[in-house]
Amino acid sequence: MADSVSEQRSRPAADAADPATALRCERVAREYSRGRDSLFSRGGDAPTVRALDGVSLSIATGEFVAIAGPSGSGKSTLLHLLAALDTPTTGDVTVAGTDVRSLSSRQRTTLRRDTIGIVFQHFHLLPALSARGNVALPLIERGVSKRDRRARADELLEQVGLGDRAGHKPGELSGGEQQRVAIARALVSDPAVLIADEPTGELDTETGQRVLDYIEQTASERAVVVATHDDHVIDRADRVIRLRDGIVVSDA
Ligand code: ADP
Ligand code: MG
Repeated sequence: MADSVSEQRSRPAADAADPATALRCERVAREYSRGRDSLFSRGGDAPTVRALDGVSLSIATGEFVAIAGPSGSGKSTLLHLLAALDTPTTGDVTVAGTDVRSLSSRQRTTLRRDTIGIVFQHFHLLPALSARGNVALPLIERGVSKRDRRARADELLEQVGLGDRAGHKPGELSGGEQQRVAIARALVSDPAVLIADEPTGELDTETGQRVLDYIEQTASERAVVVATHDDHVIDRADRVIRLRDGIVVSDA
């Protein structure tokens, strides 16, 4: 994969009909209700927060995109939509050519399982399982045999430099190691899209850089989208989409 990276990294023109377009948003808005009992809702109109407001973007296979912006600017909301964990209030989100709003919740689950790997800031590993067990988990619902799951998990752990830690539980691993297990788990099904929400947010600079190395290495063969505050991530991305108050203020 290494040799084709620089070619593929030149920014492709992305279009929904183009098979290279992995992710697309068109005039997407997402509103949250404040909730009936909220402080903000007493006696007023139906109170909503507009977390995203008219976001349009396309991301192609082979791109490594950072979503930057201050806290509360809508980064996580956008990632949830791109990961088909959520649907927009208005507008369209297309993942690997499929309009997410046209899917039932069950179909969205299948789309996520087959197409998307997700990495969270707080790792979200199961504490009772070994690193290998955590990485192999997504393969169970895909019906992969135990033997093949184990072999595939070990292969992925090897790739993220944790071949000798496969039997350790998350509690026995450092933060950076846990995040690399989470990356291995996100990639175990070889998804077309990798989405990471502040993956280096809990890590010191050096550990964060190492985690970033693994994310970057995988970007030539899929679309990678990372929400971040971290300048190291922003510096290494092919493209930076900046959000402010739910609006794209720059995309370059
Ligand atoms: P970021 O990830 O950039 O910090 P978020 O997408 O988490 O931003 O949040 C964007 C805005 O939407 C913020 O004003 C936040 O308070 C609001 N918000 C996010 N999630 C919810 C929710 N589940 N319910 C209500 N408001 C929310
Ligand atoms: Mg966030």
